[in-house]
Amino acid sequence: MNRRTLLKTAGLLPIAAAPGLITSPALARKLLTRFAYIGDTHITAQLKPMEAIARCLHHAQDQADKPTFMLHGGDVIMDALAQDRDKVTKQWTAWHEVVKADNSLPVEYCIGNHDVWGYENAKNDPLYGKKWAVDQMQISGRYRSFDRNGWHFIMLDSVQPTPEGKWYTGHIDPEQMAWLKQDLAVTDSKTPVLVLSHIPIVSATVFYDKANVKNGNWQIPGSWNHTDAVDLIGLFYQYPNVRACLSGHMHLLDRVEYNGVTYFCNGAVSGNWWNGDTYHETKAGYALFDLYDDGSIERTYLPYA
Ligand SMILES: [Zn+2]
Repeated sequence: MNRRTLLKTAGLLPIAAAPGLITSPALARKLLTRFAYIGDTHITAQLKPMEAIARCLHHAQDQADKPTFMLHGGDVIMDALAQDRDKVTKQWTAWHEVVKADNSLPVEYCIGNHDVWGYENAKNDPLYGKKWAVDQMQISGRYRSFDRNGWHFIMLDSVQPTPEGKWYTGHIDPEQMAWLKQDLAVTDSKTPVLVLSHIPIVSATVFYDKANVKNGNWQIPGSWNHTDAVDLIGLFYQYPNVRACLSGHMHLLDRVEYNGVTYFCNGAVSGNWWNGDTYHETKAGYALFDLYDDGSIERTYLPYA
């Protein structure tokens, strides 16, 4: 069975219009839910990011058609990687303070590179690495999946340390890949799937920097785009119900259609890491996503300033 046949079987293709008849697939589909994607909040204990994030959260909750929950795409805090315990504690405390005061929606988190505690002197600390972030986010593990409003959500852990441990690249480890294959295999083929990874799996944003053309060739850093993109694209191709992959990390906005999957990179709440509200051409903002029963998905990106 090819992808198109599968999509038809799963009811994921728009109904073909009879000749001469004007029909809109949009009329036939039913909105299942709307959620807000917020990401790259990079909070510190300073007033400017705390106030701006509060404004962003209210902007989302004040929508006439209010989102029912939030997905956080990672990089909740400014940086834990090279910071000592006290500095990291202050950032998480600032985050919880803002969420408690200014957000009433459930939040589902995905781990970003800056949420990982990689401080050299903390190597033997039980909170070292991703443990601290998992605790703060109150998630069941560094990767997971859940069902909500007729869709299946997969939250990946895309941040993997390099062998020397000082840096990271974007991919999923063998244990997580085995879990992902199993998770897709046991998900009902009629249930649309949304994948969230902090680092993009496929993204046009990686072409923003001319400095990465070296000797006439593009050299895309492995920390910008999943280095296992070929494996993931191949895996998703076997499951036509995989409809969308969302990411942050680049602080830039794009939308790429590839093999029936839509890849959305979703800007950043912090814009240029709080040094101005625009990073290249992308304004600081968040996104509203509408999920439909036919597996379609729509995004509206909203600068909140
Ligand atoms: Zn970031």
